[in-house]
Amino acid sequence: MNFGVKDTVLIKGVGVGDGIAKGTLKFLKNEKISVTHTHEWDAGNENKRFSEALVFAGHELEILYSYALSTVGESEAEIFEIHKMMLEDDDWLDDIKKEILSGRYAEDAVISTCEKYKRVFAEMDDEYFSARSRDIGDIADRLLRALSGENNSAHGTNGKGDGEDPNKYIIVANDLSPEETVRMDRSKILGFVTFEGTVNSHTAILARSMGIPALVSTGKIDHSANGATAIIDAQNNTLVINPDKDSISRYLRRIDLIINEKNEMQKFIGKETVTASGKSIMLYGNIGGIEDVDAVLDNGGEGIGLLRSEFLYLERDSYPSEEVQFKAYKSIAEKMGGRSVIIRTLDIGADKNVGYFDLPAEENPALGFRGIRICLSRSELFRTQLRAICRASAYGNIAVMLPMVVSANEVRESREFLKIIQDELSSEGVPFDRSMKLGIMLETPAAAIMSAELAAIVDFFSVGTNDLCQYTLAADRQNPLVADICSENLEPVFRLIGMAAQNIHRYDDKWIGICGELAADTSLTQRFLDKGVDEFSVSAPYLLKIKKKISECN
Ligand code: PEP
Ligand code: MG
Repeated sequence: MNFGVKDTVLIKGVGVGDGIAKGTLKFLKNEKISVTHTHEWDAGNENKRFSEALVFAGHELEILYSYALSTVGESEAEIFEIHKMMLEDDDWLDDIKKEILSGRYAEDAVISTCEKYKRVFAEMDDEYFSARSRDIGDIADRLLRALSGENNSAHGTNGKGDGEDPNKYIIVANDLSPEETVRMDRSKILGFVTFEGTVNSHTAILARSMGIPALVSTGKIDHSANGATAIIDAQNNTLVINPDKDSISRYLRRIDLIINEKNEMQKFIGKETVTASGKSIMLYGNIGGIEDVDAVLDNGGEGIGLLRSEFLYLERDSYPSEEVQFKAYKSIAEKMGGRSVIIRTLDIGADKNVGYFDLPAEENPALGFRGIRICLSRSELFRTQLRAICRASAYGNIAVMLPMVVSANEVRESREFLKIIQDELSSEGVPFDRSMKLGIMLETPAAAIMSAELAAIVDFFSVGTNDLCQYTLAADRQNPLVADICSENLEPVFRLIGMAAQNIHRYDDKWIGICGELAADTSLTQRFLDKGVDEFSVSAPYLLKIKKKISECN
């Protein structure tokens, strides 16, 4: 379907959360940019078009650099400076110009030259330079967009004074990898629409953590909708492109309701999290990094139940050093001021892949080399992270949590390794918290089945329902074709949780929590409590809703 004309079009998908937003659709670059030529080739004209695109792309990178510098800091901003330098490289520019002179359109010259440079970089032995190959791809995309004029058309197409921010977008993409999501400028996003994906995919997790609506699994939407105004309505599982008056009034009514609901929730801030029958519950927040901590505190989070530490790795082009990690963990611990901060050790692998790890290609990556398996076999990697966590433990109330555990041996091995590191730090005179708790993610059926043995050697369990559902029900969390299997067959998952809860509660001081996405589903809160769950850890925007729901449960 072509969206050039302003007909109202309704697209169905699977909503994430219950939010609604109105804004401009912005198709992301992982949608392949198609190049078509509608004008005659002329060397002078192509050269001029290329020079203009170059100036535009350079200017865009300067803005991105300054913005990133002021919001997320020097190390995150650096990438835009590197891209700008690469954009100005003389050899590369000469090659593109030569291609144009040999009779090619500017777009084709950019594509073929970038392909050549990508290959050259990819084959370099030096890790830093081989990682630059991906940057060349990014630069090529930026130039192609500038040549297509797309960047301009996506700006300022709304902002008619009816509530939405003209500088924010509803991002549309095939799907988003965790690596792409962590690199996004969140301040400019109103919502996500993905052609593929499920409610447990990383786009969905990011949308929940940002408190914005997402619509996944819509099927392909034609690129001609880029720049159109649309309403994304997660509660009703719809995207309305070029909304008519009725859709806009429905949107405004919903906005009113949401604002009222938010105001209503405020009264739960500062209140103890307790069920109607008087059981105290720990209510914690899930975060990807320091940037999410304020939202947890503002929404009454009593601790951090899951710090997905792999985000520190995903947002970089090389391994974060011990010092970088130490500073990140320490600042979170300090900001939480003595409240619990549970740092999950690196859970890379499967859908969370990053180039510089050089992970082997696998037939079934979700069943392969991921999480604790990687850490235990790459001890230097594990050592660096555990040293950073231990050092940070001197500055707050930190606990460590292992992902993807299937056996007591993995826990024993990790504990022994942790002890070696703590002894090393002692002998170096470095302060750390010797009594730091160690827990595990309960996200494999094996861990639930072995929970009696595991409960004896860990301090807590935190249920990762995203993975526990996929492994229990043999249904890929990323695959929309089997998404219903998870939502319709939760009983086996609940039975595993109940089994683990009974085993951990044999110990007075040990507990079980839920940190997977189902923890934020208020229709399941009572069921989790019935199974004996002691802690809920959810993205910040869901904290008050869950607190309210808990207060209504037994
Ligand atoms: C989970 O599996 O539920 C979980 C919280 O971990 P992740 O989504 O990061 O795999
Ligand atoms: Mg998981």
